[in-house]
Amino acid sequence: MDALTRTRHKMVDAVFQNLGIRDTEMERIFKEIPRHLFVDSAQEHDAYKDTALPIGFGQTISQPTMVAMMTRELAPKSGDKILEIGTGSGYQTAILSYYTPRLYTVERLAELSRRAQGLLEQLGLRNIIYKIGDGSAGWESWAPYDRIIVAAGAPAVSDVLKRQLADGGRLVIPIGGREMQRLMRIERHGDVFEETDLGECRFVPLVGTQGFK
Ligand code: SAH
Repeated sequence: MDALTRTRHKMVDAVFQNLGIRDTEMERIFKEIPRHLFVDSAQEHDAYKDTALPIGFGQTISQPTMVAMMTRELAPKSGDKILEIGTGSGYQTAILSYYTPRLYTVERLAELSRRAQGLLEQLGLRNIIYKIGDGSAGWESWAPYDRIIVAAGAPAVSDVLKRQLADGGRLVIPIGGREMQRLMRIERHGDVFEETDLGECRFVPLVGTQGFK
């Protein structure tokens, strides 16, 4: 095992221990994904610190703890159809791609989407459908989804997005202001949407018709 892999395993062990996650499958996936390839080479030495890092265009790769928390709350089952809004670096995309052959991801910044796509293909992750554009209103063409994850902060939970959830589906989304949000989990039971507040978080703003202008 090389030094980088060792450092990665150490970080993942710490993150999972802090969160009290005992999900060996998820831990194995986190240990496998080379996060240092998802950040600028200048930031590579910080890739295995549990922090968010800049990825250009004013955007960030999420903190590993936050990615683990969101994945836990999303609780994807194998084969679930998943929609991700905010591809960014593609790190969370890589993790989700292990759970399903049907992963859809939307990013509004073309250059980030293309970069993520190149890297994920290089890693052999080919079960991902990419879209460049505003994902704040979801992606109607492939709806409904069993799981929807939003990696940018929205001012409110939009009805458009909720309607793209399958019955029994789950949505994980940061809701609040431009600076701080609350991480929300929304579960659909028929016409009832059960909301759970998972605590404070800090994401870049979701920019679009159902986001910030
Ligand atoms: N999970 C990603 C998070 C990237 S930050 C990672 O760890 O790398 C959030 C991303 O959401 C940014 O890349 C930003 O450009 C994107 N974004 C913001 N508003 C969006 C919208 N309306 N539709 C799609 N992507 C959006």
